[in-house]
Amino acid sequence: MPDDAASNEQIHRTIGADQPAPGLTDPAEGRRIAGSIRSRLGPAIWRMMMTGPSAPMPFVMSMPVLVDGPPNERKPMTRSLAGMCFCGAVHYSVSDEFRYALNCHCSNCQRTTGSAFKPFAGIECRKLSVTQGASDLLIHGDQPDMAHDAHCRRCGSLLYSLVRDGQWVHVALGSLVDAPSIRPTAHIFVGSKAPWFTITDDLPQYEGHVVES
Ligand SMILES: [Zn+2]
Ligand SMILES: [Zn+2]
Repeated sequence: MPDDAASNEQIHRTIGADQPAPGLTDPAEGRRIAGSIRSRLGPAIWRMMMTGPSAPMPFVMSMPVLVDGPPNERKPMTRSLAGMCFCGAVHYSVSDEFRYALNCHCSNCQRTTGSAFKPFAGIECRKLSVTQGASDLLIHGDQPDMAHDAHCRRCGSLLYSLVRDGQWVHVALGSLVDAPSIRPTAHIFVGSKAPWFTITDDLPQYEGHVVES
């Protein structure tokens, strides 16, 4: 275990347990750990932990430093990715928690993107929000509440599609500014693939939708 992880775990044990942490019998080791905890928490909080708070301190248990390690390594629990259209009128933010990502070769995706295929990633719609230019959205679809494509009405960029009874969005990966953690794992609807385009990677190919095995 790296030293940081070990001492981080020690912090949890020291704070969370009633008894001394197992294996903590060497006084020098105890002092070393105490010093490390003190330097992470800061002198004021360390003093309160040692002497008891003069007022209730409900925040101690939820201090992010206890969970995420040293301040310079702290990260938000969930990363947010920025996305935008070509002209910059519409911006959105989406959580980096996509559940799947695919390259779709269906003719609709070819038309809406003007490309050979559309790389997209799926996520629950509540995890995407339009942060700027919502009034510049062009919503295209027969049942806008259940399924639609969202474009910028000024430049035409396709940003995302509302799908699956309005519960999910398929983000057009090309509209992301930040790189997502996920990568497309397959080509779908290759039965409609543009004849002038050749797939050159080794990802699985499906004639239509992904078939669960
Ligand atoms: Zn635009
Ligand atoms: Zn498609």
